[in-house]
Amino acid sequence: MAKVKNWQIQRDMEYPYTEHRPKRQWSIIFDLNKCIACQTCTIACKTTWTSGKGQEYMFWNNVETKPYGSYPLAWDVRVLETLGQQAWKAKEPYYGKTIFEAANENEVAAHFNPKDEDWMYPNNGEDDCLGNVSHGEHITLPHDKWFYYLPRTCAHCTYPACLAACPRKAIYKREEDGIVLIDQSRCKGYGECVRACPYKKSMYNPHTRVSEKCVGCYPAVEKGYQPMCVQNCIGKIRVMGFVNPPWSIREGNPIDYLIHKKEIALPYYPQLGLEPNIYYIPPIHANRDYLLQMFGPKVDQAVANYKNLKNDPVAQGLMVLIGSTDRIMHSFKVKNGIASGYDEKGDEIVSVPVTEPLFERAPFDKDLKAVRNNTP
Ligand code: SF4
Ligand code: SF4
Ligand code: SF4
Repeated sequence: MAKVKNWQIQRDMEYPYTEHRPKRQWSIIFDLNKCIACQTCTIACKTTWTSGKGQEYMFWNNVETKPYGSYPLAWDVRVLETLGQQAWKAKEPYYGKTIFEAANENEVAAHFNPKDEDWMYPNNGEDDCLGNVSHGEHITLPHDKWFYYLPRTCAHCTYPACLAACPRKAIYKREEDGIVLIDQSRCKGYGECVRACPYKKSMYNPHTRVSEKCVGCYPAVEKGYQPMCVQNCIGKIRVMGFVNPPWSIREGNPIDYLIHKKEIALPYYPQLGLEPNIYYIPPIHANRDYLLQMFGPKVDQAVANYKNLKNDPVAQGLMVLIGSTDRIMHSFKVKNGIASGYDEKGDEIVSVPVTEPLFERAPFDKDLKAVRNNTP
């Protein structure tokens, strides 16, 4: 195995191929404080990409209730069990093992293989209460009172386990945007990628007998548009752009700004060692120990930084820009209470007021001769 630099765990690690970073890297940031699990993103992806035969149980984008739900069943618990208990002290690199370093001889990564039925019940029972609830009784839940929604796509990892495990070399990472794709004509459906991806975002199609995965909506990205799951997000919780490693941050890039400058967006399960390129603003109300195992020891600081955004008009401006355009924002500026986003050429593509104007209407409309009241 080669030694490669993984900035998320702040050390070099083992990987089957030598380090190579694409010209730019596709990335999505999700604000988990805002996701309402409406699943519009899931359906936007499904209707665009996976409405065919053999794709019935395939959700390249899914949203699960943490910690009680998962797709496929218990993927996160089983991956962490496979890796075994590891430690990561705050303000230190991660010295525990990644899935590549914990692999047995003759395998690329420590892994588990979901059964067919594990893919069949996304969201089943996640938000249900337990038992009968009749008049005057309190709802009893099968779980603690905190939870949050976790939307997931393929992370188009810098060190993809799917790519590393493919014996046919059918999986490749595009130089122009870092999107990881499966060459359908080379794939023979051995399923090694399905086994190796710890996030379980490579899926087997029993009809075509080859593996498939999120394609990052590359046709849209090539035209300067964000992916369908991002464009259609009802909660405006997502923004897609290009992330840089910390040693080559681009000034004004909204993605670099939230990840590296404000340090509010974190990769999930960075300890697995793939340098995943989807990032999450952690939910501020959720159990901190749980967040720690999912986002690593920087989570406390990220939550504190997020709470401080109210004192930063530039960051506030960017938060308002998220979800306000379908185009990819390569840079942004906030000036005189107006937040603006720009495309690759530097042309303005969106402009919004940082504070929404508030209009107070008189209870009696003289023009219409009508009294307005609020319907309870
Ligand atoms: S999330 Fe999984 S499928 Fe996607 S690039 Fe990473 S290892 Fe491959
Ligand atoms: S980026 Fe495109 S292909 Fe990937 S999950 Fe989102 S909508 Fe689906
Ligand atoms: S569309 Fe947006 S708000 Fe709705 S579930 Fe998806 S990520 Fe969450």
